[in-house]
Amino acid sequence: MEKVVLILDADDTLWENNIFYEEATDAFAERMTREGFDPQRARGTLARVEHERVPIYGYAPQEFARSMALAYRQLCRESGRVPQPDVEAEVEAIGNRVIEYPIILLDGVAETVAALSRHCRLFLLTKGDPEIQRGKVERSGLAPYFEAVHIVPEKGPDVLQGLLVSHNLAPQRTWMIGNSPRSDINPALAVGIGAIHIPYHRPWSFEEVPIADPERVVTLHRFSDLLKLFPPPEDTP
Ligand SMILES: [Mg+2]
Repeated sequence: MEKVVLILDADDTLWENNIFYEEATDAFAERMTREGFDPQRARGTLARVEHERVPIYGYAPQEFARSMALAYRQLCRESGRVPQPDVEAEVEAIGNRVIEYPIILLDGVAETVAALSRHCRLFLLTKGDPEIQRGKVERSGLAPYFEAVHIVPEKGPDVLQGLLVSHNLAPQRTWMIGNSPRSDINPALAVGIGAIHIPYHRPWSFEEVPIADPERVVTLHRFSDLLKLFPPPEDTP
């Protein structure tokens, strides 16, 4: 029998990611408070700058740091103040903390990925800076379980369609698994493959769009439940 194909997202599905961005955002808000800015306004300004810049500059962590520096400038501009180069450098350093964070695998990921790899074809699909994402995959120790790792600037139906064609995958046996409605679930629904949503405990607002067709989505709250959906052949009655 043909194997089931699972395409897995990485950040916030296999390992912690957004918590490091949240920590840096907290540090930014705290630093801005010391400059006399309202912390909520600082957070709001950063979120707006990020949402404007991501579609143009992508998801590289260096761009997150740049967005922080630009948010500081904007806060200054709005209050008629002159941005201070030393503060700007400090802010950019806070943002740069997310460049090489430690890989903390989410609960059950290591065992489940290893077990699934014995009877499923596994692919990893992640978006972002190629070098940064490649480093995270390497440090995760999970690379050997994947038939291929794809790092793309942005995930959409076209990318999934490309994978189906290039690896000759049958849509009816292929599932996309991820935390993001915007980047994982809706693209999967658009190309007609299975969609498994595993929500992340601290989601990034940018990824949280409405799910196009919730009836077609399987939601799991534990990564290890994938083994119940896709049990090893000997467990199948
Ligand atoms: Mg993700």
